[in-house]
Amino acid sequence: MIEFSHVYKTYPGPVHALKNIDLKIDKGEFVFMTGPSGAGKTTLFKMLSAFDQATSGRVKVCGYDLGKISMNEVPYFRRRIGVVFQDFRLLKDKTLFENVALPLIVRGDRGSSIAKRVYDVLEQVGLGHKSDQLPEYVSGGEQQRTAIARAIIHQPEVLIADEPTGNLDPKLSEDIMDLLERVSAQGTTVFVATHDHDMVARRRKRTIEIKDGMIAFDHRFSNREIIGGNDVSSI
Ligand code: ADP
Repeated sequence: MIEFSHVYKTYPGPVHALKNIDLKIDKGEFVFMTGPSGAGKTTLFKMLSAFDQATSGRVKVCGYDLGKISMNEVPYFRRRIGVVFQDFRLLKDKTLFENVALPLIVRGDRGSSIAKRVYDVLEQVGLGHKSDQLPEYVSGGEQQRTAIARAIIHQPEVLIADEPTGNLDPKLSEDIMDLLERVSAQGTTVFVATHDHDMVARRRKRTIEIKDGMIAFDHRFSNREIIGGNDVSSI
């Protein structure tokens, strides 16, 4: 689903933001990415959402080779992924319903099918009763749940979340992470960058740490670790 082979990204300077990244993430996997500020996490997300291209190496996502993708193909590729940001990025003058409907309208879907799908997804994230509210009248957690609804409305194969709980308190952060785990259980590959080490240690999901543009470790929990509660304090 996501494959990086020998990927380097160098910005003018030169800044070597990514160095020899090799990475494979399967369909439906839930993966955390951690690492200090400046390590290269955002750069990696930009590579895999086709917002920027690698300097060398190969990035393959949803069957597209992003080094060879044409400008015409990019919008079609983007429909296969969903993105969630720390600062929600909702349109302030649109209701939650209208925000969530946006990707379907852009895609050219028609009225009644849009309404049904939007209400279904708002129900799924627990916001069916707030669909007519403007974002400023709901809580931060509800805004983020709306942003997740918008990111999954078109049933993407990959969901990228860049610090999705960075602006939320611990309880709301847990709710958002539960929601992202449910999205992954439905078959979407979910890739989450976070600084919240306690949450990462508790959830026992595959964790990739980026340091200085390189993969410092890539840890998958065995079933025994997940059930038995082995020591994971090093993560
Ligand atoms: P993180 O998301 O882990 O904080 P980034 O991917 O944003 O890290 O940055 C990795 C490195 O690349 C940093 O040294 C940063 O300053 C540099 N960098 C990121 N974007 C650019 C850019 N557009 N031009 C030059 N350097 C950049």
